[in-house]
Amino acid sequence: MRIIITGGAGFLGSHLCERCLSEGHEVVAVDNLITGASDNIAHLDSPRFSYQQQNISEGIHIDGPVDFILHFASPASPVDYLELPIQTLKVGALGTHNALGLARAKGAGLLLASTSEIYGDPLVHPQREDYWGNVNSIGPRGCYDEAKRFAEAMVMAYHRQHGIDTKIVRIFNTYGPRMRLKDGRIVPNFMRQAILGEPLTIYGDGSQTRSFCYATDLIDGIYRLMLSKENMPVNIGNPHEFTVLEFAHLVQELTGSKSELQFMPLPEDDPKQRQPDISRAREILGWEPKVELKEGLTHTLAYFREKLGVA
Ligand code: UDP
Repeated sequence: MRIIITGGAGFLGSHLCERCLSEGHEVVAVDNLITGASDNIAHLDSPRFSYQQQNISEGIHIDGPVDFILHFASPASPVDYLELPIQTLKVGALGTHNALGLARAKGAGLLLASTSEIYGDPLVHPQREDYWGNVNSIGPRGCYDEAKRFAEAMVMAYHRQHGIDTKIVRIFNTYGPRMRLKDGRIVPNFMRQAILGEPLTIYGDGSQTRSFCYATDLIDGIYRLMLSKENMPVNIGNPHEFTVLEFAHLVQELTGSKSELQFMPLPEDDPKQRQPDISRAREILGWEPKVELKEGLTHTLAYFREKLGVA
C-alpha cells in the first residue's frame, strides 16, 4: 500500500513509519514539526520512504495514489496542548476534515488517532468504548478533548455519508523511545529527573492512576486495526494500572536514582483514574500488550540516557 502518515515525525508517527516500511509499504510522512522532529525519521533512508513538511490544518497536498491515511498529527502532551490550544483545535477539526477529504478524493481508508481523553475524567472504570465520557469543554484540556471528540464525529460522518473505510483507535498512555525529553508527560519527566538526580515531580498526592503501554505494543494494535474490517472505536492500551506514586517508586528502583519526591499542585481537570477495557481489541484484533512495564522502561531509559549524554 501507499500510506500517508500525518504527524509522521512525531513520537508515535515515526514508530508507525518504521512499522509500515518493515511490512513492505510505501510511506509518505507529513508533519509541520511543531511537536515532531526530523531527527525521529532521519534514520529511515528507504527508497519507499519520503517526508513532506506541511501544516495539514491548511490543507494536504499529495500527488499520486493513496491507499491509506494514518492520521496522527496533533500535539498530545497536556503541556503542549496547553501552550498550543488553537493549533490543537485546528488540527483536530480542520486537519481531520482535510485528511478525510484526501481519503475521499483518493478512495483511501483512514485511521484516526483518538485518545482516552475523550472519556475525560471518567466516571466509569475501566473505560469501555461504549462509555460517552465526562469532559469539561471549557477547561484547560478542553482544546484537546473536544478536538478529538469532534474528529471522531467527523470520521463517523464521512464513514456514514461517503462510505469511507474509517477506523478510530482510542490511545491510552503510551511511552517509549522518541518521546521528547521535555514534552512534560510523566514518563519523560520522571526519567529525565531520575537520570539527572533532580526531584521527581508528583502532581497532587500521586493517587491518580494511569496504565502505560509500550510503543511497539501500541503500534502493533494500530497496525492490526488498519488491516481489520472494524469501523467502530477500539481502545488500545495496557490495562495494568498504577498510581502516579507507585510509578515514581518504580522509576526510582529501575534507575537506582536517589531523587526525592516533590509534591506539586494537581493540574486542573487531571483525570483521577484511567484504565482501558481492551475486550474489543482482544476479540476483534486478537491483540493484547506483551511488553511488561519494567522491560519497556528499561529500553526507554537507555534512550533518555543517550539523549542526555549520561552513560
Ligand atoms: N504527572 C506527575 N508529574 C509529572 C507529570 C505528570 O505527577 O511530572 C501526572 C499527571 O498529573 C497525571 C499523570 O502523571 O496524573 C499522567 O500525566 P501525563 O502528562 O503523562 O499524561 P495524561 O495521562 O494526563 O494525559
